[in-house]
Amino acid sequence: MKKNNLNVSCFFLLACLFVNQLQAQNNNVANQKSAPNLIIITTDGFRWQEVFNGMEDAIVNQKKFHQGDSSYLFNKYGGATTQERREKLLPFFWNTIAKQGQIYGNRIKNNKVDVANNQWFSYPGYSEILTGYFDPAIQSNDYPPNPNSNLFAFLQKQESYKNKIAAFAAWNAFDRILNEKVSGFPVINGTESISSILKDEQSILISNMLRDSYQPWKEVECLDVYTNYQALHYLKSKKPKAMFISFGETDEWAHHGDYNHYLDAAHQVDAYIKAIWDWAQSTPGYKDNTYILVTTDHGRGFNNEWTSHGADVKGASSIWFALLGPNVKNIGALGEQTKEQQAFQKQLAATMTKLIDHPFKAEHPVGEPIY
Ligand SMILES: [Zn+2]
Repeated sequence: MKKNNLNVSCFFLLACLFVNQLQAQNNNVANQKSAPNLIIITTDGFRWQEVFNGMEDAIVNQKKFHQGDSSYLFNKYGGATTQERREKLLPFFWNTIAKQGQIYGNRIKNNKVDVANNQWFSYPGYSEILTGYFDPAIQSNDYPPNPNSNLFAFLQKQESYKNKIAAFAAWNAFDRILNEKVSGFPVINGTESISSILKDEQSILISNMLRDSYQPWKEVECLDVYTNYQALHYLKSKKPKAMFISFGETDEWAHHGDYNHYLDAAHQVDAYIKAIWDWAQSTPGYKDNTYILVTTDHGRGFNNEWTSHGADVKGASSIWFALLGPNVKNIGALGEQTKEQQAFQKQLAATMTKLIDHPFKAEHPVGEPIY
């Protein structure tokens, strides 16, 4: 090769390397921008029966359950058809998720979702959602910090999500269920307040209101309104990429046998989810780039046993879940799922992390994605 040709070749080679490097940098920026956001929302022990059928006449007609005011419930959630009733109870579910996303678990249509664990109460259920695994050792809500790693702790180790994760929960067991000490992201639960991590005026106001509020369950659990406003404020101001938000009133009021409060709590959670989705869909970085999973930790009994759950209560293993997000359509048809199917709670962790292209891996077996 002549010297001139060599010079030209060297120049060409260097130019190629330079262009390659620029492309790599651009791809990195694009990848960082495009890592999808993930928000998992739970409402404790809310039955599939109300999700798909709305208010249940057999329950609301009983004086011990309607708290002396059934007309309030019939006016608010009544309707001639199942469709009308469920839309009144959960308008965001049935007007938005059922059109843009998917809803699983209508057993009347043989679309079944169950917990894989054999306990049918909260700690085992949340652990199954978050770790993708049924650990038979977990048999108590007082179980110590969860030895099984969860999907958020996994995301905390991924470049795109590191230090962009937070959990807000009404029930004070989530420090343990999510093993806050080893997971590496903040878990604000029970009557803990957001002012421990944010010091702005609004955080302090919400924290003061929580501190001074009526607390029917003392330090064990706060009212959902505080969990919601703390989580929403954190979402808007810190812009995390992954969040867990857990509401508790549906379960508490059901144990009390207060069908009116149970339904109102579910109706309110539906509105909280709408506010989160509306914010995401109007915010750059979140718009068309956010996945939401809504689900519950366990089911409850049928008819008069609706107040209860646990392994001795028939039907309490049956749950439901709902999905929203840009590529949910890749899983299958949008809308209420009507094909015969059996899905399990332990599949949710893999399903959601597959949707955001960061498949969850752990030291324990993880349930397969549902698609
Ligand atoms: Zn319960």
